[in-house]
Amino acid sequence: MKPGPFRVALTYDVERNSPPFVKSTGKVYSGMEVMPEVLQTMKAQGAPGTWYIAHDVDPENQIALRFPEITADMAGQGEVGTHVHFREYQKVRTDVAFVTASVSAATECLRSEGYPAKSFRGGNLYMSPVLLDHLEDLGYETDSSVLPGHRVTMNDGLRVDHTERRSCEPYYPKKSQPWSAGGKGILEIPLSAFPLLSFATPFFSVLINYLVLISNLVLLDPELAIERMQRIRNKWPTENAVIVLSAHPHDFLADSISTEAKLENFEAFLKAVNRIPGASFATAADIRSGWVGPDQANRDPRDRAPLKLTTGDLRKAKQLLRRPVRMPHTSSV
Ligand SMILES: [Zn+2]
Repeated sequence: MKPGPFRVALTYDVERNSPPFVKSTGKVYSGMEVMPEVLQTMKAQGAPGTWYIAHDVDPENQIALRFPEITADMAGQGEVGTHVHFREYQKVRTDVAFVTASVSAATECLRSEGYPAKSFRGGNLYMSPVLLDHLEDLGYETDSSVLPGHRVTMNDGLRVDHTERRSCEPYYPKKSQPWSAGGKGILEIPLSAFPLLSFATPFFSVLINYLVLISNLVLLDPELAIERMQRIRNKWPTENAVIVLSAHPHDFLADSISTEAKLENFEAFLKAVNRIPGASFATAADIRSGWVGPDQANRDPRDRAPLKLTTGDLRKAKQLLRRPVRMPHTSSV
């Protein structure tokens, strides 16, 4: 298959810091203070973002109200969507109204602040038939909660399980089965991931986040991130590839390397994407408008050629693991 054009979606879960970063002053930094620089870098490179703005029962996590100016700047540099952490996992399992009320409240908050809020991502990548149905009722047009192959069980037994989905290709999900194609309305835009492994062990979580999902890799090693992205693109089942990266504001804070170094790496990554023939940036709304996907209802998911790990991948993973990195995406996605 000849490589066709492909689009890169930079998506952000904009939420309270997790975990909190306490500097010597005792002040807790959330990563929001880095966002003006992140936005500036993206603007300079013509790269829009999809900003999933958090809103839930925790007042700390009502981002549009706490950071109205940054939220407005994000809307000016892409699309503002909705991000909801349900927090009380026990309730999520037993109380349908809790899930729908949480999403309604978040949606109402953003829309009353003037943001259309047509794109959604569940906290911890939670998705369910009830949730998908409710999103449709609220007029959402895209969801990006599915990470193919991902499976995790929360402390109190709530399970997030996307192992039924093997492909990273966007699809219109069935209402009763968010992991199957065959519906209409909302376009599911999966995160670009490794459709082979669930996050069975911390080692694989790091491996996937740094080498395959490549999101954090963008800030650590942009050259390797580009190489990895090209591999995902070349395995894409159709010509019109979509690569969905995700990050949080706090990912830009210093850990194994400084914030400045991360911003430099980020800029280098954006420049490199701009140099790739046929590559462009897109928001979730961009991907949905004019999405020409094959009729996937009848496609055999085994058609997809999953990425295979090579010994080179494992060597690089081991090298990265020797760095004092913190675990990404474990407490909050
Ligand atoms: Zn989140």
